[in-house]
Amino acid sequence: MNSEGRGTTQPHPVSENRLPETFTGNRALQLEEGLLFEIGRTDVSGVDLPEPPPFRDRLGGHARTTAPDLPGLSEPEAMRHYVRLSQMNYGIDSGIFPLGSCTMKHNPRLNEKMARLPGFADVHPLQPASTVQGALGLLSELSHVLLELTGMQAVALSPKAGAHGELTGMMSIKAAHEAHGQTGRRIVLVPESAHGTNPATAALIGYQVRAIPARADGTVDVQAVRDALSDDVAALMLTNPNTCGLFERDVVEIAAAVHEAGAYFYCDGANFNAILGKVRVADLGVDAMHINLHKTFSTPHGGGGPGAGPVVLSEALAPFAPVPALVTTENGLRLAEDKGAAGAEQALGRMSAFHGQMGMFVRALAWMLSHGSDGMKQASEDAVLSANYIRASLSDLMSVPFPERPAMHEALFDDSWLHGTGVSTLDIAKALIDEGFHPMTVYFPLVVHGAMLIEPTESESKASLDLFIAALRDLAMAVKGNDKARFLGAPHYAPRRRLDETRAARKPVLRWTRPAPLPEAAE
Ligand SMILES: *Cc1c(COP(=O)(O)O)cnc(C)c1O
Repeated sequence: MNSEGRGTTQPHPVSENRLPETFTGNRALQLEEGLLFEIGRTDVSGVDLPEPPPFRDRLGGHARTTAPDLPGLSEPEAMRHYVRLSQMNYGIDSGIFPLGSCTMKHNPRLNEKMARLPGFADVHPLQPASTVQGALGLLSELSHVLLELTGMQAVALSPKAGAHGELTGMMSIKAAHEAHGQTGRRIVLVPESAHGTNPATAALIGYQVRAIPARADGTVDVQAVRDALSDDVAALMLTNPNTCGLFERDVVEIAAAVHEAGAYFYCDGANFNAILGKVRVADLGVDAMHINLHKTFSTPHGGGGPGAGPVVLSEALAPFAPVPALVTTENGLRLAEDKGAAGAEQALGRMSAFHGQMGMFVRALAWMLSHGSDGMKQASEDAVLSANYIRASLSDLMSVPFPERPAMHEALFDDSWLHGTGVSTLDIAKALIDEGFHPMTVYFPLVVHGAMLIEPTESESKASLDLFIAALRDLAMAVKGNDKARFLGAPHYAPRRRLDETRAARKPVLRWTRPAPLPEAAE
């Protein structure tokens, strides 16, 4: 608890039996911080507001008579509050952030500089097109690069995240089936290892989801897909590389089987960063794929922050793209919103109010242009190399569920090496926090027991990977040496100890309530 707010909340016990408690609750320069409501005082404000001149209100007697109960802080107190909170955070700018599937990669500062150029940052979506030709030109260039990298026919930039791109692509598929009178197709096939957004998307637009089991080697069996295909199937949703970090080798055969059955092939492209510049998804037979700009082309994301999920469409689906579409006219570029104007004769309408996330587009294009085509290819090669380096460096101590083939951009471990030790995947993740690392993704993909999914990305140096590997090796040795104290109750050094995550998810306390006033002391 900082000096302003001391005494308003319970001090948090610091690592029982290990470290002495401090008077302030601070740990060296790691400062405790209460909630704004706990440290703010209603009689204080950061600004001096003049008394309003007398006026007659038009609130019909509903004007408030008491001051709003707002927590007030002086200007420096307000600043310290937010700086202290930010220092309790961990981000890719503080260290390796090895979350598998999420691809938390370094966002070069050049991207930020470009995104802040007033011509991009300050434009208004309702400005006349003639005044934003540069910004539209950037959208055009980004679209061109995305189509080059994927070999696809059309791209819609407006989806605001991967899941939103999935929805857009699947809505295009549904619109295409409807246009062709194929309204009886009610089923979408989704492999068991899929990201949860895949079945959720299919269900949201009224499809029944049928799971395709994984083969023993972690990939999808073309025969299992063939067996599940029928006149009732609208699409297959497949992630490639899949969420076990493996490339689906039979993808071309799978696509052919899907097309033969009159269905479309949706590819979840969230893992595009593993094959960028190496594989054009059009050559794999993909009809629709979203691209998480915030995973493949750097740009920060997470915590509900901005993302962008452009969706690329094959020739068959291009007429069913959403609006707006970027078109070139004799007066320059414009965003066409009328069906047909952009070649999307049966466009499905808007997916968002305007054109999408401008700042994300600028960051993505800045990353693409600064890497160049050779650099992008190298980025995916290095991401794959980093993941395999981690896997190879740990596989003597930790168990690898699919060791037959090399990994792509992420290394997957299961918990069979922990059996009988009393230590779980969650304990390993928590102990990693004590070592100063954000944990890997745990318990996902669901097809692997006690999964630990580590994605290092291409931008981590070998020294950084070596330190991460050494820390995990040390933890693995501690497990084998039966040093349970290191794990049980970890993290020991975090500002908050182990949280009851189930309770936090099931019974979240989202509203602060003022504690009852203490009874007046007897005179
Ligand atoms: C991240 C991810 C998604 C969802 O993308 P968001 O941008 O988080 O909505 C979908 N599929 C896979 C495989 C992902 O990794």
